[in-house]
Amino acid sequence: MPSVTIDLLFDRLGSRGLGAYGLANVSQLDHALQSAALAGEQGLGDQMVIAALFHDVGHLVFDDDTDLAAQGIDDRHEEASADVLAGLFGEAVSEPVRLHVAAKRYLCGAQADYYDKLSLDSRRSLALQGGPMSEAELAQFMAQPYAEAAVALRLIDDCAKVSGLAVPGLDHYRSVAMACSTA
Ligand code: FE
Ligand code: FE
Repeated sequence: MPSVTIDLLFDRLGSRGLGAYGLANVSQLDHALQSAALAGEQGLGDQMVIAALFHDVGHLVFDDDTDLAAQGIDDRHEEASADVLAGLFGEAVSEPVRLHVAAKRYLCGAQADYYDKLSLDSRRSLALQGGPMSEAELAQFMAQPYAEAAVALRLIDDCAKVSGLAVPGLDHYRSVAMACSTA
């Protein structure tokens, strides 16, 4: 495991984040910046802004750019991302991120029309991630700390896939990240 610093996260997002996100014309960096902008617009606070910015960063820190979902493999990127973020920002940032894939399974089980709004990529990975939650799983999920924050993050995640949207750049978030640092 590389020694991960806040600077490294910004570097990786700025360089490797230019790779495709599984959507035409939306890079990992676009997706991250749109997510962070939405969290800010919704007034969710600095820690959620940073959670949104880095929610998929595990891909960029540990893996190459291989799209494992396309090969039928669950990449568990939420765990890799959360483990990195826990050491740098604490659980208010890391735990919504850890649950952002489970939150998709939650929303698919809890809201009849949610699945239809998902991108093709998110639908494809859903089956690998365990499919919609059952009634029992829904209750278990919401009983966890940060479950509500994870659902908010997930809804942001789903909307942050707009080709060509103008949002603040990466540098906008450096001071926010430093303010959230617990390292
Ligand atoms: Fe993700
Ligand atoms: Fe995402």
